[in-house]
Amino acid sequence: MRFGATAAFTILWLGITPHIACTRWPATQTPSSVTTARSRQSRQPAPPRAWELSEAQIREMVGRVRAGRDLSPKAWPNGARVAVGLSFDFDNETVTLRDAGTSVSQLSQGEYGARAGLPRILALLERHGIPASFFVPAVSALLHEPSMKAIVRSGVHEVGLHGWIHERNSQLDEATERDLMKRSLDVLERLAGRRPVGMRTPSWDYSPYTITLAKQLGLLYDSSLMADDRPYEVVAAGIPTGMVELPVEWILDDAPYFTMDRFTGIRPTMNQDEVFAIWKGEFDGAYAEGTVFVLTMHPQVIGHRHRMAMLEQLVSYMKSKPDVWFATHEEIVRYVKSQAGTP
Ligand SMILES: [Zn+2]
Repeated sequence: MRFGATAAFTILWLGITPHIACTRWPATQTPSSVTTARSRQSRQPAPPRAWELSEAQIREMVGRVRAGRDLSPKAWPNGARVAVGLSFDFDNETVTLRDAGTSVSQLSQGEYGARAGLPRILALLERHGIPASFFVPAVSALLHEPSMKAIVRSGVHEVGLHGWIHERNSQLDEATERDLMKRSLDVLERLAGRRPVGMRTPSWDYSPYTITLAKQLGLLYDSSLMADDRPYEVVAAGIPTGMVELPVEWILDDAPYFTMDRFTGIRPTMNQDEVFAIWKGEFDGAYAEGTVFVLTMHPQVIGHRHRMAMLEQLVSYMKSKPDVWFATHEEIVRYVKSQAGTP
């Protein structure tokens, strides 16, 4: 799969060389600088233009990672109508650190997740007697060892992979990505007492190698892709992988609604009641269809007081319905595999 992709891009890049030769240069540039710039451009041609792709090339690109068969079981355990998987990405300071950020204020906003958000989340889960999955960047686990102990203390929550330092994995070469995944698994095994069996990639991003590496490292599932509302088998380059996908979606994530960027003017903070309406609607749909409701949250985002009140309201609403199965992602995946006979 990797070699095929590389070859396709090489062919495409060679194919557009004539267009580069037509580039016009500003009159202020000297001939020597033009020559230097031209030779540099010859070595680094522009990416392919989308409208010049052949059908075969397009099929190869979209087929690298694709949704395979629907793995929805005929019934959930004990006759439940829906499986609810609450997940919390314990990012804390890593979102700042992965870009080599040093802002004390931004780091403190991340620290809030471990210090203020997580205790509220764990208390809510305990009050309602429900499990959850925590996806943890290894650096975040190293910085917050007491938090890791708190997460695993109840014995019902799951800890999953979420990168080393919330790196942008699509920018990594294969060897680096493999090394970071292995080191992350080792750190989480040491600090959580059990080797993770599932992953959520940082920012839900994927490199061409991610799914293959995850399978090689023995992971059972991923929860980072968006091709369906139902659990499905991941297919890589046309070959079923046996990996189960528990799909996510930005509408089922707290970050797009509640986070802001001080320097770009992106400040979408929404009223929590509007977000409740969206999440309730998605749960109602999953309940009617008999599938899964997977919610992604972040302690530094959902952990604020008024948002925790909204999450409590949502959990109470879901519990008011008969036959709702609250489970970790791992429990959902193992059940799905047992019913579907996935290798
Ligand atoms: Zn994250």
